[in-house]
Amino acid sequence: MKITDKLDAAKGETLFSLEILPPQKGKKINDLFAVLDPLMEFKPAFVDVTYHPEEMIYKRRPDGLIEEAPLRPRPGTVGICAAISYKYNVETVPHLVCVGFSKEETEDALFSLCYQGIENVMVLKGDEKNHLKIGKTNQHKYASELVDQVANMNKGKFLHEETLNEMETDFCIGVAGYPEKHFEAPNMNTDLKWLKNKVDLGADYIITQMFFDNKKYFDFVDKCRKIGINVPIIPGLKPIDAKYQLKSIPSRFFLEIPDELTKEVEKCKTISDVKQVGEEWCIMQSKELKAAGVPALHYYTMSKSDGVVNIAKAVL
Ligand code: FAD
Repeated sequence: MKITDKLDAAKGETLFSLEILPPQKGKKINDLFAVLDPLMEFKPAFVDVTYHPEEMIYKRRPDGLIEEAPLRPRPGTVGICAAISYKYNVETVPHLVCVGFSKEETEDALFSLCYQGIENVMVLKGDEKNHLKIGKTNQHKYASELVDQVANMNKGKFLHEETLNEMETDFCIGVAGYPEKHFEAPNMNTDLKWLKNKVDLGADYIITQMFFDNKKYFDFVDKCRKIGINVPIIPGLKPIDAKYQLKSIPSRFFLEIPDELTKEVEKCKTISDVKQVGEEWCIMQSKELKAAGVPALHYYTMSKSDGVVNIAKAVL
């Protein structure tokens, strides 16, 4: 079922959804099931599965020289979607990225998803940190171009006229939005202009980057509505569960952690104190967002379940 149909069917009730990461290469899928098992009790409306482009690693060869090699750290997004849908009978949403894919490879991947009965895709530019060197010459530069490709396939338009056009796909398309601005955008208005472009090209809903101050989300939604972005905007949330995240989250995701939360985390003596502070903050955020009637509460699990289980118990 399409995510937008699920949101419509909920008739204003706030849904619960999750994002998980594929296991690290070499780890068993059972580790992922162990994360999901306790969360299924809360009946997530959908589970997003992230996609991780290849990274370059550097290895010392026996002759002492350094060798560069591509490594996909967390492979298997589509297979994991199939395994989770089969095991838990839950809607899964594979993430699809521009980085590292030619347009033709993307088209083939979309055909495969369609044949598997997957109706939803989350369309992203992809994290480029370590992947610049393995970019393809005809890969999409921005998520909007990938949205356009998926929307065209939904109309039966493929890349090359040689492709038989007897079928149309029917994907529901999610895209990312940034309440605190995407780091590359010169300012919020420009970022919003490009977000609107993704929606105008065919995106059906938006999931936001995590934020720790609900005002940032509410302001973002207001600004979106003012420029005519009318699709559902689902807030993304993550509980802080380690002290080092006070630095790593702002530097990785380009967002602010409020003063009050920072002070409370800094005061903590043990890891379990930090987890408690992070969960209480996330519960407070979730309750306020739910009371405001957001379409869904979407939790970034980072493949850990205990924090989100405690939050779901308190909020749902
Ligand atoms: P875009 O929408 O392409 O925007 C990127 C930047 O370009 C923005 O600054 C925007 O303002 C600007 N821009 C957009 N269009 C244009 C244009 N036509 N001309 C000029 N500027 C333009 N990364 C992964 O690798 N795998 C994942 O699974 C993944 N999942 C994510 C899920 C969510 C909910 C979020 C919020 C992020 C996720 N990311 C993931 C990270 C994401 O790939 C990065 O944040 C990336 O840098 C931007 O992706 P985007 O799709 O928002 O890019």
